[in-house]
Amino acid sequence: MSITEENSRLEDLDRKYIWHPFTQMKEWVEEKPIIISEGRDCFIKDIYGRWYLDGVSSMWVNIFGHRKKEIDEAIREQLWKISHSTLLGLSNVPAIRLAERLVQIVMKSLPDPSINKGVEAELNSGNPSLPPFIKGGEGGLCKVFYSDNGSTAVEVAIKIAFQYWKHKGVHGRNAFVSLANGYHGDTIGAVSVGGVDIFHKAFGPLLFKSYRAPSPYCYRCELGKTCADCKFACLEKMEEIFRTHRDEIAALIIEPLIQAAGGMITSPPGYLKGVRDLCTRYDVLLIADEVATGFGRTGKMFACEREDIVPDLMCLSKGITGGYMPLAVTLATQELYEAFLGEFRDLKTFFHGHSYTGNPLACAAAIACLDLFEKEQTLMNLKGKIEILEEWLKEILSLQHVGDVRNAGFMAGIELVKDKETKEPYDWAEKMGWRVAYSTRDRGVFIRPLGNVIVVMPPLTISGRNLRQLLKVIRESIIAVTEQ
Ligand code: PMP
Repeated sequence: MSITEENSRLEDLDRKYIWHPFTQMKEWVEEKPIIISEGRDCFIKDIYGRWYLDGVSSMWVNIFGHRKKEIDEAIREQLWKISHSTLLGLSNVPAIRLAERLVQIVMKSLPDPSINKGVEAELNSGNPSLPPFIKGGEGGLCKVFYSDNGSTAVEVAIKIAFQYWKHKGVHGRNAFVSLANGYHGDTIGAVSVGGVDIFHKAFGPLLFKSYRAPSPYCYRCELGKTCADCKFACLEKMEEIFRTHRDEIAALIIEPLIQAAGGMITSPPGYLKGVRDLCTRYDVLLIADEVATGFGRTGKMFACEREDIVPDLMCLSKGITGGYMPLAVTLATQELYEAFLGEFRDLKTFFHGHSYTGNPLACAAAIACLDLFEKEQTLMNLKGKIEILEEWLKEILSLQHVGDVRNAGFMAGIELVKDKETKEPYDWAEKMGWRVAYSTRDRGVFIRPLGNVIVVMPPLTISGRNLRQLLKVIRESIIAVTEQ
């Protein structure tokens, strides 16, 4: 069979057998699929030999580029030993080593959790205008629970938070607080705390109770405020939910600094700290979903660092293995962990675990990534690239159909609008984001939009030259599609 015949056979087989995620298959089967066969640095190559700049880090996971020598070698080394062994009733060497490294890095990156004590002291001061303080989760994030993707990391956090209160003898805390435009994955628990109606609304009847706080979406403030006069009105709404339902709420879940899949919505400075304070005041556990933001994307190792806060539970995945293998972690405080201790017969055990939990190959890859962060000073080298990105975003904002540009470090979104004056969005069905993405593909750049928002999220180690090329192509494509 010739290469051309083999390639067209692959296309046919894809159409015949694969049901692609988040994809309208009726359209997919009518289009020519891009089938990737290789990757190198921040480029991916299709079966026809065309190279594309990977502008979305292979779905926000890739950190150091493709075929990174050190990660390749770590996986090969581990292959000589063992590929998989369970963590249910056994342990394994890479899982232990990685857990230690992660806890050390988190402890070093996030502030001393006694920072929350300031609020506690204020609440204990007897001031009658403040709610009574019940001791909640505290202490650093020192326990590692493994799973294999972002959604499962979130499921684990939700279940730990829920059961923690039961084990403490506090009943009725069966609900959660989540944010409009929040996205935490596609399993049913994660969808229950999701706030993107297009993805989540259809599953309404299957979901548990989650009170929805406003999104800190300043460009389209649902409370009708402008930045100058807002005084964090969205936090006041969140407090209202806490005040009214405090006895029902187990935890609040948030994507710190930036609501990624909801449209790259960045929160204003001080917002995250305000959320932490509210959770402490009302004794609600705080779950930080750092699945997208973790491992340097926002310019710091973790987004929580940017506002010096410590959550009670933290979810990590995506970049943890540099985009090589599925792996996730839910970090918990000592206090949460201890609530699950008891006699065998007490049934306080956390009955949760996946077949590939703590997979040794994935953990070996993750250790190699942490080594690379240190060895290559990845975050230090990122600073200049964040500046380049921000300069280009400013320039792109001046385009006729760009309403807003937002970035938290190296995660950015460009919001396209039909009318810049009125902020009127393009209709979803116009597929404007997609049309820009198709246009960038013709110019050798792969991106994937979120509705009308163009996402810019290349591997952290992209060179300055390639970054400029990526942004140049995105700019040209926006002009070509929206100003024609
Ligand atoms: N949380 C956040 C913040 C995410 O961005 C995502 C995925 N985009 C998830 C959870 C779910 O991760 P996964 O797709 O690995 O299940």
